[in-house]
Amino acid sequence: MAYNITLIPGDGIGSEVTKAAKIVLEASGVNINWEVVEAGEKVIEKYGTPLPDYVIDSIKRNRVALKGPVTTPIGTGFRSVNVTLRKSLNLYANVRPVKSYKGVPSRYEGIDLVVVRENTEGLYSGIEHKVGEDAAESIKIITRKASERIVKYAFELAKKERMKKITAVHKANIMKYTDGLFLECAKKISQEYPEIIFEDMIVDAMSMKLVQTPQDYEVLVMPNLYGDILSDLAAGLVGGLGVVPGANIGDKEIVFEPAHGSAPELGSNIANPTATILSGAMMLKHFGESEAADRVEKAVVKVLEEGKYLTRDLGGNTGTIEYTKAVIDAIE
Ligand code: NAD
Repeated sequence: MAYNITLIPGDGIGSEVTKAAKIVLEASGVNINWEVVEAGEKVIEKYGTPLPDYVIDSIKRNRVALKGPVTTPIGTGFRSVNVTLRKSLNLYANVRPVKSYKGVPSRYEGIDLVVVRENTEGLYSGIEHKVGEDAAESIKIITRKASERIVKYAFELAKKERMKKITAVHKANIMKYTDGLFLECAKKISQEYPEIIFEDMIVDAMSMKLVQTPQDYEVLVMPNLYGDILSDLAAGLVGGLGVVPGANIGDKEIVFEPAHGSAPELGSNIANPTATILSGAMMLKHFGESEAADRVEKAVVKVLEEGKYLTRDLGGNTGTIEYTKAVIDAIE
């Protein structure tokens, strides 16, 4: 059988890393029909928006997309493509597995955690305005519905992946109503899963603990802004954004994408495509193609561990294309 997948190359390094993922996934033996749709900076002139309707229509039709990063134009009046996409498809869970890989230079080893971030509200609700000339305000929305939904998602994920501990991250000591409600929901849902250890931690303490003893954590669940920041922090613990995959999950559609942005300053054939390749492996797993997903992940692990072909961000000097070829050659 063939899977229909929307492919959004994106901006900057996006087209190179998605191309790498596409050919690696094809080499894994899974049959995929790609529907390539462009979004981001490059389509603004033609369509008057970085997110034309055909992108949303394609994802709704195929239900699954693999997306490269897109550049968020600053000061142009356009809302972020990512925020708009996540809100309009109600992709409420952003999931980023953060793992140590042998061969990837890092101060730590043995990290295996997942950051689960609420993706539709919080401080990214888009309700922001100027108050006169010298002030501005942004409204943070936290609802019971979205908080319970994301915490439940995190517990179900922990159950499925046989992870034993969940940490809810918040700032309820200061933001008593918003984060207070998030924490209340997290505590309530945790009671439905007595087999999983539940703890909560204030976001500043969590930042310190992640830097000190990241191996102590398994699933971290948190509101939008904290998730955005802590998932990049966690990426820094395992070698950087180039190796952390991700998925934006809704009840109907899923958009898989690397944790990193479009890195516009990188030249061509420099970017590390690992995060996008591993996002593709997550997508195969979602389809139930676990064997193919394993083959892809094992090939990446083998190439990283061998250390002969490492991209520049990991201290090597292998290009995107040559690294991708090495991964394909390592698929068994
Ligand atoms: P970035 O993730 O693009 O880059 C941060 C740093 O990591 C840079 O030093 C970059 O060179 C490096 N880096 C990132 N990915 C890499 C890779 N695959 N290989 C090697 N090095 C890599 O973040 P930024 O610079 O803050 O943002 C650039 C643009 O991307 C902005 O317009 C931002 O809004 C956008 N962005 C998009 C997404 C997305 O589409 N999901 C996510 C984050 C940022």
